[in-house]
Formats: sequence, C-alpha cells, structure tokens
Amino acid sequence: MQSFEWVDAQSVEQAVSLLAESTDGKPVVAKAGGMDLLDLMKGGVVNPSRVVNLKTIPGMDGVRFDAQQGLELGALVTLARISKDPEVRRRFVALADAAEHAATPQVRNAATVGGNLLQRPRCWYFRDEHFHQARGDEAERVREGQNQYHAIFDNQRTVMVHASTPATALVAYGASVELSGPGGKTRVVPVADFLLPPDMKRPRDTVIAPNELLTRVRIPAPAAGTKAAYHKQGERESYDWPICDVAVVLRMEGQTVRQAAIALGWVAPTPRRSAEAEKLLVGKKLDEELARQAARAAVSGATPLSKNAYKVPVLEAVIRRTVLAAAAA
Ligand SMILES: Cc1cc2nc3c(=O)[nH]c(=O)nc-3n(C[C@H](O)[C@H](O)[C@H](O)COP(=O)(O)OP(=O)(O)OC[C@H]3O[C@@H](n4cnc5c(N)ncnc54)[C@H](O)[C@@H]3O)c2cc1C
Repeated sequence: MQSFEWVDAQSVEQAVSLLAESTDGKPVVAKAGGMDLLDLMKGGVVNPSRVVNLKTIPGMDGVRFDAQQGLELGALVTLARISKDPEVRRRFVALADAAEHAATPQVRNAATVGGNLLQRPRCWYFRDEHFHQARGDEAERVREGQNQYHAIFDNQRTVMVHASTPATALVAYGASVELSGPGGKTRVVPVADFLLPPDMKRPRDTVIAPNELLTRVRIPAPAAGTKAAYHKQGERESYDWPICDVAVVLRMEGQTVRQAAIALGWVAPTPRRSAEAEKLLVGKKLDEELARQAARAAVSGATPLSKNAYKVPVLEAVIRRTVLAAAAA
C-alpha cells in the first residue's frame, strides 16, 4: 500500500476545503465507514494522497422525521441504524428492509448511507487493477466474459450495475440527496439523477463534484394509503450480493392502486423504475393476476448478456411477489 495523509475533519466546511486541495495529481478522498474505500485502496484501484475522515464531523449522523418534511438522514447514519430505527421501519419499511439485508452485521455497523450510495461497482473486472491498465473497450470485453451478475437492461454502453441495494428503495420512495460544496453552497438532487451508469474511466459513478460532500438523504413524507415492500434475491440466504433486488411503493385506496413506484436494482447500470409495470397497475384492483401481468411487462424489454439470461425469470418472480407483499403490508 502507498502512503497517504490522514486528516480527521472537524466540520463540513473543513472537509470540503480539504477535498478541493489535490496536492500531487493524486485524488483526495473522503472516508465515511471506509468499507468500500479501503477495499479499493487495497486493490490498487484508488491511490489517494490524502484521506479525509468524515466520522469526526459532529452532527452528520442524525435521523429526523417530520410529518410535513418527511425523513432526513445524515450522511453518516449507518445501515444498522436505518434498519432498526422505529420511525424508519414504521414509515419506510422498504428502506429499513433494504438496509437490513445489505452486507453483514459487522459491515452494516460501520457502513453509512452516504458512503453506500457512493460505493463503486462490485464488477470483478472493475475491481482488478490490471484490467484498468489493459487497453481496449472494457464494456466489450466484459460483455464477452464472466457477465452473470451484470446488467440485463440498458446495457449497450456499460454492463456494470450500481452496487448499492438501499439505492433501490430510495429510488422507489423518490428520495433526494443534499450535496454541500465550497462557500456553503448546497444543492439537492433526486437519487434517480444522482447515480450515473458506472464507468471505469471516471473516478465516481454519481454527479457529485470532487469538492462536494453528500450531507443528507431526504425522503418525502408518505401520502395516506402508502404501502411498501422490498426483496433482495441472492443465490443463497446469506450476506452475498444480490442477483436482483426490487422495491415497490404503492398508494392504495382499498384494493385499488392509485400510484405505483417499482424500482429494480442490480439489473441495469442504475436502479431502474419500471414504467411499464407501474402503468399497468395504476387504477386497477390488485390481485395475483394483475401482479403477474405487471411483472411480465417489467421484464419484457430485457436484453440479457451471454451468461445472465437466468436473471430474467428470477426478476419476474421477485417483482410479482414484491408487488403482492407491498399490497398486503
Ligand atoms: C461482504 C460484503 C457484502 C456487502 N453487501 C452489500 C449489499 O448487499 N448491498 C449494499 O448496498 N452494499 C453491500 N456491501 C457494501 C457496503 O455496504 C459498502 O461498502 C458501504 O455501504 C460503503 O459505505 P461506507 O460508509 O463504508 O463508505 P466508504 O467506504 O467510506 O466510502 C465509499 C465512497 O464514498 C465516498 N464518500 C463516503 N461518504 C461520503 C460523503 N458523505 N460525501 C462524499 N463522499 C463520500 C468515499 O470517498 C468513497 O469513494 C457489502 C460489503 C461487503 C464487504
């Protein structure tokens, strides 16, 4: 491992100014829980000159709910806390379940919601420093390689999928992130626009600038009649990464669906809203047959790669079950 400078930041302003100072052409990076960053450093994919520790900044780990404003999570709130917080569990059960099913208890105790959204892809080619140094079109070579966990939608330009599973629930809930930059400037970006298709040539897969910090995650207060469910499907019931994950948020009036948000994770470069399935559900009474039709519509446009066609029927079944689970919640 190469040497680097370590700074314990005391405030958002200090962290932002430290991030802006690149000394020798190497990146200056923020560290929250360090679960992804340290892996990337050990793997030689990220070689920073300075690491700015955010954990020492007071006040970035709050959870607040307000009936008008909705939920506000500080960027340093851990996945463990999100999964257990009674308010989050009561009002945003799909997010609580997504946090609970991510990684291991040890990782969830350290991993933060901000760092989770900013983690890089788990694609094994991306994680190999030698692959980065090789020449040629990497998407083309992954397309021909071990692509069983890669994208089955929107995979013309990149076949990698975004790693965050809580992001799937956040997209279904219409969440936004607050970014803080120099001069105290902040901007709010919907999570759906914040995440970018992973790209090996870029240092990050989000619209965050190198001198910005993710400071908060916000979810609007749910309307009356909102029901939700989340399911992460792995190859086995353990801390493995998913084959796919699905978050469903419905606004119901009796048995009738008035509004639907269906987000699909680990099947496209960023969590994908299924407009096809949502359209099919709205205005109709939800039953097993309607859920089946919606799931079929959601996968109809899939373009699987050489080794991941198996994901299509798995995703279809998970969507059907998660839609029914949301309505029954
Ligand atoms: C065995 C295992 C299984 C896993 N399974 C899952 C899973 O199922 N689902 C899932 O979602 N994840 C999973 N993970 C990944 C884990 O959840 C992430 O690595 C973790 O959430 C990253 O958060 P962190 O706080 O540790 O981020 P860090 O590693 O500290 O940071 C990640 C990135 O974000 C940047 N950063 C962090 N915070 C900020 C901020 N506030 N502002 C600006 N930049 C920032 C850092 O510079 C870095 O680039 C798994 C990990 C392991 C080891």
